[in-house]
Amino acid sequence: MATGSTMLGSPTPQFVGAFALMSPVLADRTLESCGSLQSASSNPTADTLSPPASARIPLADSRCVVALWAWPLHQTIERCYVSSPWIKGRRKAETKARLCFSVSSVSEMNGTETRRRAHPSTNGKSSGTAEEPGQWGRAWEVDWFSLLGVISLLCFAPFIVFYFIMACDQYQCSVMEPFLDLVSGEATLGSVFERSASFTWSAAKIYAIWVSFQVFLYMCIPDVLHMVIPGYVGGVQDGARTPAGLINKYEINGLQCWLITHVLWVANAHYFHWFSPTIIIDNWIPLLWCTNILGYAVSTFAFIKAYLFPTNAEDCKFTGNVFYNYMMGIEFNPRIGKWFDFKLFFNGRPGIVAWTLINLSYMAKQQELYGHVTNSMILVNVLQAIYVLDFFWNEAWYLKTIDICHDHFGWYLGWGDCVWLPYLYTLQGLYLVYHPVQLSQLHALSVLLLGLAGYYIFRSTNHQKDLFRRTEGQCSIWGNKPSYIECSYKSSDGEIHKSKLLTSGFWGVARHLNYTGDLMGSLAYCAACGFGHLHPYFYIVYMTILLVHRCVRDEHRCSSKYGKDWKKYTDAVSYRLIPGVF
Ligand code: NDP
Repeated sequence: MATGSTMLGSPTPQFVGAFALMSPVLADRTLESCGSLQSASSNPTADTLSPPASARIPLADSRCVVALWAWPLHQTIERCYVSSPWIKGRRKAETKARLCFSVSSVSEMNGTETRRRAHPSTNGKSSGTAEEPGQWGRAWEVDWFSLLGVISLLCFAPFIVFYFIMACDQYQCSVMEPFLDLVSGEATLGSVFERSASFTWSAAKIYAIWVSFQVFLYMCIPDVLHMVIPGYVGGVQDGARTPAGLINKYEINGLQCWLITHVLWVANAHYFHWFSPTIIIDNWIPLLWCTNILGYAVSTFAFIKAYLFPTNAEDCKFTGNVFYNYMMGIEFNPRIGKWFDFKLFFNGRPGIVAWTLINLSYMAKQQELYGHVTNSMILVNVLQAIYVLDFFWNEAWYLKTIDICHDHFGWYLGWGDCVWLPYLYTLQGLYLVYHPVQLSQLHALSVLLLGLAGYYIFRSTNHQKDLFRRTEGQCSIWGNKPSYIECSYKSSDGEIHKSKLLTSGFWGVARHLNYTGDLMGSLAYCAACGFGHLHPYFYIVYMTILLVHRCVRDEHRCSSKYGKDWKKYTDAVSYRLIPGVF
């Protein structure tokens, strides 16, 4: 932790990058400076959708400069979109959705707690009253700070990933040495790249087979596990209600895919010998180029698809900024056909199924290089496998998490799942290939206990919320009937829905104890690598930034969604992550 804090405290490239990754979403605020650009020039519904008066300031405002140079590109795309005959039919619905959001989102993003504007219901189930519940969704507009963050990330995030992998490959996992070499002129960017493995067709073939195999498992093998394993929830499941009020169906078969993949991996390692178990680490840098190609291709496809053939136009969100749209996504739940859901597939499959295989490959490499596997490597494999298996065992629950319920699908998820996750979440195993640390029994036991305690808090907290929401409060939490706060919110069709916020069990201790447990587990993975280098501790630094930021972002969104009811909840449960501290 001390190491992590050191990194956090100094403006190293890693920290700046990791922070930058989160910054665009952190600043989900209304763009006051550039609002007039969007409404006057490009917005296809500009005549009906004007930002509030406070958003209208002269174009010459210097804060708009960054946005302006991107403007021609954005306008071209918007124009193609508007003039596409294919899309015209959908525009009506989208305009309606935009109207619904726009009238309320700006004031809500600014923290207004009560809404006095009446929204007539479209389906007659309920109607607006004098004091309305909040409405949720991401901001429609982007401030210049977010824009800068977005552009920096799009340019630099792939290099951050490369930096950490290259540091092991060329500098024995030293984080500072490559940086110092570059600063002192002993190395140049060119020489660093020259020394790195380049793209190879054999890596491309491996990666293509891998992704195709995962698509095949996802699409073609319906789940049977839920029929044979008691307590496991799989098969066709409902997602959460989208901002437009839809409930999508998902085929939950992740556990089955994970099992088939791993059985084949083990069978190959012991019987078939089609490929070496070190195949992943042996092609690690060439594979990095392939994952980047897929990450950018998927994000670009999702971006274009949102303009040309969105799955559900009412759940699209255009901020008026092309970079932000590209990064944070436009479509909420892009799909191909009825079942290929981009979020569920890319979030879970090529990256998280691969996570445990990557670790196994590292383990095999240690065995190959040193003739034995260290206890630290076993600990990392076991603790991370628990986390991955937990994810797939609870995949139906995952449909109710922020990734699926609230984030739109763009580069942030598409590229992040293809590249960031498999490369940076597995840094500990990679480090241990270069530094085969053998831990003392006490150290190993402490790491194991920390990891298991973290997992217990993480899982129990998530389980309590899931149970509470599934049974609508008709359950027992810590042996008692749960206490909760009744709340309501509004979807973009104007319909009002009821919900409940749990205030007992772990949710009565702090508002995000599941994140705290996750952080404890993350720290355990890092501590399993000993204290010799900063490299494996990047993960805890990154996770802290990710989850603290996520916590702030989620609370901002919940406050917009639930208004005064959220305030009641925060009054009842005062702390976010650590009772008495934060
Ligand atoms: P949560 O599961 O905590 O979901 C937050 C949502 O839960 C809120 O938006 C709100 O949604 C609802 N909610 C909040 N408070 C309450 C309450 N008191 N009672 C009932 N519902 C409540 O967050 P995430 O989806 O971010 O995370 C899920 C898990 O995934 C976490 O354990 C996290 O640690 C982990 N995670 C791991 C990551 C990784 O990279 N390893 C990344 C991100 C998450 P609503 O609108 O429905 O009310």
